[in-house]
Order: sequence, then structure tokens, then C-alpha cells
Amino acid sequence: MVNVGILGATGMVGQRFIELLSKHPKFEIKALTASHRSAGKRYEDAATWYLDKAMPESVKDITVVDTDPSQVDDVDIVFSALPTENAAVVEPKFAEKFIVASNASAMRMEDDVPLIIPEVNPEYLDLVEIQQKNRGWDGFIVTNPNCSTIALTITLKPLYDQFDIKRVYVSTMQAVSGAGYNGVPSMAMVDNLVPFIGGEEEKMETETLHLLGNLDGGVVTPASFGVSASCHRVPVVDGHTESVFIEMENKCDLDEIHASMDNFRGLPQKLGLNSAPEKPIIIRHEENRPQPRMDRNQDGGMAVTVGRLRKDAAFENSFRYVLVGHNTIRGAAGASILNAELINEIL
Ligand code: NAP
Repeated sequence: MVNVGILGATGMVGQRFIELLSKHPKFEIKALTASHRSAGKRYEDAATWYLDKAMPESVKDITVVDTDPSQVDDVDIVFSALPTENAAVVEPKFAEKFIVASNASAMRMEDDVPLIIPEVNPEYLDLVEIQQKNRGWDGFIVTNPNCSTIALTITLKPLYDQFDIKRVYVSTMQAVSGAGYNGVPSMAMVDNLVPFIGGEEEKMETETLHLLGNLDGGVVTPASFGVSASCHRVPVVDGHTESVFIEMENKCDLDEIHASMDNFRGLPQKLGLNSAPEKPIIIRHEENRPQPRMDRNQDGGMAVTVGRLRKDAAFENSFRYVLVGHNTIRGAAGASILNAELINEIL
């Protein structure tokens, strides 16, 4: 077994880590950290549990410690679910001796930090060697993208490999859990939606192109097509929905687009990694799918569901579809765990 810790273990994403890791066949939870407010308490007393399934018995009696590397030992990997501003300071300290698999955005766009979706760009793990050399760390940091970017990029990857993408417009309908438990006041969400999520559109526009880019000589050159995002918070608990409009440079037909997504498999599927969905993209054909409540948990929440795939009659070589991805599983904790499984397998 590989011993692991969770940084920010009491929050929305931290709890998903606990849920997923407590039944993991290769990773065993040994350390839980949170803010000074929670440190010193039993996990059961420190965390207000938000998830449908009960808190696993195995973590209830673990004492939460401060998020400081001196408080954590006997682990190989730490999963970070820290707020970004805290992650920026703390993750580099942990990386001096541990492997850090992070959800936070703090280190994502650093030149020597791999930003990875294992089905999309596993080769970016080559940056680990450069990072360790640059920074003199025994450990290293690997990050996963923002939750809405992950789902979008998984669906774009097979299309990008097979066709010449000209531009992508995406309009999101994002779940409230994406903002953390205290993120959006209930008065703002009941009978309402909020057409702004700070920093989200910029992340979708830059991270997507970075992930689909090319690593050469230790430098990532982003993909060069246009991505334009409009992000909105809606009163759904879990599961981000995205409406995608894609235009290709050259002629292609709907059957080819369908087959490209349907046949897509990546390295995690080839390696049979524990958290890898059998099919990264599941295509539904009903006219009213995907829907977050019905489709977010496909393949343990790790598959992205695509539906309403159709030609866009208004423009040449253009297509539209709607996707649903689970934001705290495929878009956060599950993504980091899949990254760690890949690292454990190939590094
Ligand atoms: P959250 O619910 O607010 O949880 C934050 C966690 O960090 C809690 O465990 C909290 O501990 C701890 N924390 C807060 N301040 C701290 C400090 N100063 N020192 C140490 N620990 C501190 O947030 P979340 O939604 O889980 O998000 C966590 C990270 O994942 C963020 O960077 C977020 O952007 C990213 N992310 C979230 C999603 C999503 O769908 N929610 C998706 C992708 C990425 P206490 O309980 O003690 O306060």
C-alpha cells in the first residue's frame, strides 16, 4: 500500500478524497490536515460531513493536524484540496519531501509543473524531472485542471487529434459544490442563477489550450485554436453542465465526430488504472440528456457524458453538444487520484 495524506481534508473536495481513498485498493489514508480551526480535533468532530454516503469509519478517529509538512510523516503522496491562496504557500513546502497531487490552481501554470489529465497529456509528467532539478525538491507537484476545464478538454481531445479545430465556444451551468461549502450564499442560489464565476472563464480558456498543447524540450506550447467561455452558477448541487459549440477548419461529418468521441480511450484505460472509467466519454442519444442529476455519477463519477450531439446548421463545419461531468469527482478529487495512480504506475 502507498500511504497518503489529504491537505484541506474537511472541505468539499477533501471529503470526496476521503470517500474515494477510503476504499482505494492501493492508497491508504494516514494523515489529514486542515486549518488551525480544525487541528487537534478528531476528524469526525472537525468536519461537517456533506456527502450522501456516511463518513467512512476508518477516518473518524484520525486527529486532524495543521497543514504544515512538519506535522505529517509516514506518507508518500499528499492530495491537496486547499484554497488557492493557501496552496501557493504550502504546496511548495510539502513538495520538498512529498509528491503533491493538487487540485488548487496556485501552481497549475508554472512552467515546470505538469498540469495533467491522464487521458489527454500524460507525457507532461516529463516536467517532473525538470521541476526537481530547478527547485532542488525530493518530491514534486503535479496538478489537475479546474473542474469545468477537465470535462470540456476530455471531449475535445479526440476531436483535436483527428480534426483541425478552428474555435470553441462554451457556456457552462456549474454546480454550487464547485464553490466549496461556504462558497455561494443560499439566498443567491434559490430561485436564481449567477452569471459570473470569478476567474473561471480565464482558466477554461488558458488551461484547455495548455492541456492540448505540445511539450518539447521541457517547454509547453499551447494549442492555437480559439476558446471562448461564459461561466454561470446554477442551483444544482453536483455536476457541471456545459453547452459546447465547435467549428472545424475542414469539412467533416457528424458520424465522424460521434465515432471519434465514442472510440476515445487514453493511457489510464490501457494501463487499467483503478479510477479510470471504461470509456472517458459516454454518448447519450435521448433528446433530453445529459442531465446533472442523472448523469454525473456515470462510471463512479469519472466519465463525462455527452448528448445532443448535432450539426450546427447556422455555420459550416460546425457542431454542438452538451456535456455533464461530476465537478468534485472527475473535476477534482477523482482527477488528482487518477494523476497519482498514473505517477505510481509509470514514474
Ligand atoms: P472548501 O470546501 O472551502 O475547503 C477548504 C479546505 O481547506 C478545508 O479543509 C479548510 O479547513 C482548509 N483550509 C482553509 N483555510 C486554510 C488554511 N489557512 N490553512 C490550512 N487549511 C485551510 O473548498 P473546496 O471546494 O473543497 O476546494 C478546495 C480546493 O479545490 C480549492 O483550491 C478549489 O479551487 C479546488 N477545486 C474545487 C472544486 C470543486 O468542485 N469544489 C473543483 C476543482 C478544484 P477548515 O475546515 O479547518 O476550515
